Amino acid sequence: MPVPVPVPVLVPVPRPPPLPDRWAGVRFFGPMIREILEYPDPRLREVAKPVAAVTPEIQALVDDMAETMYAAPGCGLAANQIGENHRIFVVDCAEEDEPSDLKVFINPEIIERDGEIVWQEGCLSFPGVQEDIDRAAKVKVRAQDKNGKWFELEADGLLAVAIQHEYDHLQGVLMIDHMGPLKKRLTHRKMVKRADEQASP
Ligand code: ZN
Repeated sequence: MPVPVPVPVLVPVPRPPPLPDRWAGVRFFGPMIREILEYPDPRLREVAKPVAAVTPEIQALVDDMAETMYAAPGCGLAANQIGENHRIFVVDCAEEDEPSDLKVFINPEIIERDGEIVWQEGCLSFPGVQEDIDRAAKVKVRAQDKNGKWFELEADGLLAVAIQHEYDHLQGVLMIDHMGPLKKRLTHRKMVKRADEQASP
């Protein structure tokens, strides 16, 4: 004789009470992929503010930035590209077949620039846009790492380019500012059209 299968009874589950205030801002999950702002979002034009202290909240933001950069995928991301007005950027210039090489720059200053290099750059805030941009071939940068410790780094090649590109973001400077007038107009029009299409699909 077949055993009767019990019919599950659906009981409404009461909603948990809201968390007490002391949990405000506490993270229960790992890093999150954030939305990347695209030109002409005006927040990309704000000059990012210095980080007063490298708190757990700032460290969680750094984790979100890395997660967002890798998911995009991109080789650099500045905090104001995800709408966070802090002087922080992350870069990882490792080749695809190399182990990851995440570098975190908090309150960065470029203290030396040397030589010239032209590199074809892209930007997560300008999807589909590429431009040859003149940069210093070598830079020396001073910044704090994810633990708040100050360090100095000398970079050349792609890493030097990425550092200058991301540093620009913290100043509210974008790749379109490095373009000639014609390319600038075309890029502006293309990005505005894209934003309009996304606003009203
Ligand atoms: Zn960019």
